[in-house]
Amino acid sequence: MQPLFVCPKCGGHYLDEVRVDTVVISEIILFDEDDSGEYSYGEQRNEDGEIDHYECRYCDYKIEEDTPEGLISFLRGLAKKGV
Ligand SMILES: [Zn+2]
Repeated sequence: MQPLFVCPKCGGHYLDEVRVDTVVISEIILFDEDDSGEYSYGEQRNEDGEIDHYECRYCDYKIEEDTPEGLISFLRGLAKKGV
């Protein structure tokens, strides 16, 4: 069974991965017709970089793991504690 994230601080279920040194490449999809120099972004993709940590989306709770394996064992630990 997939470990479910329950934030020990706020009880939230959304977990974010935070990466560093990542290059973000954005597609430019629309130039403004009145030549104002404005444009919009379309699809974005990320290249390179590495995981810095994982964190709760809603509070500042930070999990100091930087690998998917580390995260999974952290989540299993939480599940065992019944948090
Ligand atoms: Zn939280």
